[in-house]
Amino acid sequence: MGRIVGIDLGTTYSLVAYTEPQTGQPRCLPDEEGRTLLPSVVSVDPDGTIVVGWPARDRLLKQSERTVYSVKRLMGKGRGDVEEELKLFPFRIAPDSESVIKIRLGEKVFTPPEISAFILRELKRRAEKFFGEETTRAVITVPAYFNDAQRQATKDAGRIAGLEVERLVNEPTAASLAYGLDKHQRALIAVYDLGGGTFDISLLKLEEGLFKVQSTNGDTHLGGDDIDNLLAEKARAEIRQQFKRDLAEAPDLYQSLRQSVIAAKHELSEKTSATIRFAVPGQGEYRREVARAEFESWIAPLIERTLAPCKMALKDAGVKPEQIDEVVLVGGSTRIPLVRRRVEELFGRKPHAELNPDEVVALGAALQARILEGGLKDMLLLDVTPLSLGIETMGGAVAKIIPRNATIPASASEMFTTYADKQTGVEIHVVQGERELVKDCRSLARFTLKVPPQPAGLPRIEVKFLIDANGILSVTARDLRTGEERSVEVKPSYGLTDEEVEGMILESIEWAEADFAAVQLVAARNEAEAVRRATAKALGEEQAQGLAPDERQQIERARTALEEALKTDDYKLIRQRLEELNQATHHLAELLMDTAVQTALKGKRTDEVNL
Ligand code: ADP
Ligand code: MG
Repeated sequence: MGRIVGIDLGTTYSLVAYTEPQTGQPRCLPDEEGRTLLPSVVSVDPDGTIVVGWPARDRLLKQSERTVYSVKRLMGKGRGDVEEELKLFPFRIAPDSESVIKIRLGEKVFTPPEISAFILRELKRRAEKFFGEETTRAVITVPAYFNDAQRQATKDAGRIAGLEVERLVNEPTAASLAYGLDKHQRALIAVYDLGGGTFDISLLKLEEGLFKVQSTNGDTHLGGDDIDNLLAEKARAEIRQQFKRDLAEAPDLYQSLRQSVIAAKHELSEKTSATIRFAVPGQGEYRREVARAEFESWIAPLIERTLAPCKMALKDAGVKPEQIDEVVLVGGSTRIPLVRRRVEELFGRKPHAELNPDEVVALGAALQARILEGGLKDMLLLDVTPLSLGIETMGGAVAKIIPRNATIPASASEMFTTYADKQTGVEIHVVQGERELVKDCRSLARFTLKVPPQPAGLPRIEVKFLIDANGILSVTARDLRTGEERSVEVKPSYGLTDEEVEGMILESIEWAEADFAAVQLVAARNEAEAVRRATAKALGEEQAQGLAPDERQQIERARTALEEALKTDDYKLIRQRLEELNQATHHLAELLMDTAVQTALKGKRTDEVNL
């Protein structure tokens, strides 16, 4: 009926929450044992029975081939997208997985949305038991960086579970709602989410009731699991020393050692010391007291790894840490005191941690659900572009038009002109990526705009990019003189795997320096080429007769020197020779009243002479 629940479909844990209409207070719904968390784990018994949550988690040890966890990592991905993931996660992908992945669980195969649907169905059941009636509508949260396919897959999961998904809400936005930050007139909010296996940082801007994602960053393989592995490895080494037994050879035992260290880790968030206890079968008990300070020295490098993505997100959003008004902690791992301290140091303010960090996203989802039920004002949530978009300019350089992390809907335009005389067409090549050269970016579309033959540099062509709310890009090129217009529609992320997106971003950082030289070279070459031609043309003009013989010689010499420099890859040398030629042609330029030649001689901006 009218009721809508909020669901946090997490990588490690999932929850369902509801906002009481009378009080307006959201709360997470407990299972029969009073637990609000549901492990996002699904297991299939030999008789085909589906087991979800805590009992499925216990089967991770003993029936690993019929149990699956972290399925969120596979949502909306194709076979090609998950090669890297498979190296880190023991997912058993069925061989016939082509576009949609299928996971083998015992004798059966399931797609990721089907597995997520088992989790959602369990939460639906929990809600129905709680309310004593059917529940069919839900708001589900997704990471802010989820692309179209991942969002679609999440919606599919809901449908499979018999839930109408009224809205997908970004997790950081939900967390901000839970803290009531929407009450602010305007605010910059940083949401730091350190969960079981993933780290996300999101910067949101709240303005007139709108939450806008300014930037997102993170690490898809960093979280509490890494801390668990680190502790388990330390314990294993000590057990090997003490008991002459290597648990690496007994996966079941190693898994239960992991459970022991996790218990100690949780205790260390509350107390200044904890003891890892583990029974080595037939050989007695391993006991290890760990002081918080020692624990912190072990995990410090892991926590440090969250800071670089935070800084990158700040940089992408163009804000300084001190401009952030609110910091919100999300994810079970933010209970660790060291994490809180480091976040506080980075942003220079105390982060919100009053609410339970593993419930906060679900609570926000329940508030959004209440908004949709009609009980609270509506709010619009906006998204960002994952990669920069631009067009090719001459020499294989990219002119970026819409930068990465721009809020959508977005539009931007840029003016271009022709490079050669009497050019009848301008080719527009749309590319996506962070690198500066076309060959390192992804080609999205090509089309040609017809222009009437005119002298080079005369046409004024406006290239406009528009990304609508659904993430669909359209590009229009218009000759402002003739009014001639051409446009194409491109789907930016179509066929682009996440690996490629991430790879491109990483590469752009790695290559930034090499790119800089390459771009400088392309720019210098273009400009030199234009000036060289214009000089040759100008020397042939009537007015050039006014030059003294040694002036003409000097120009010729400078031009030859530039031509020699153009044979090298040294952009500094090209620039120097270009400058010398410009100096030498000063008088010539004065002699020529023809404005077109003058502009060419003075060296236009490269993006103006390109295309
Ligand atoms: P996700 O969003 O990835 O599903 P959660 O936000 O629920 O995951 O976080 C789960 C992680 O939080 C696990 O690694 C768990 O061990 C860790 N965690 C939970 N409680 C504590 C605690 N008290 N101290 C330290 N880590 C904790
Ligand atoms: Mg989470």
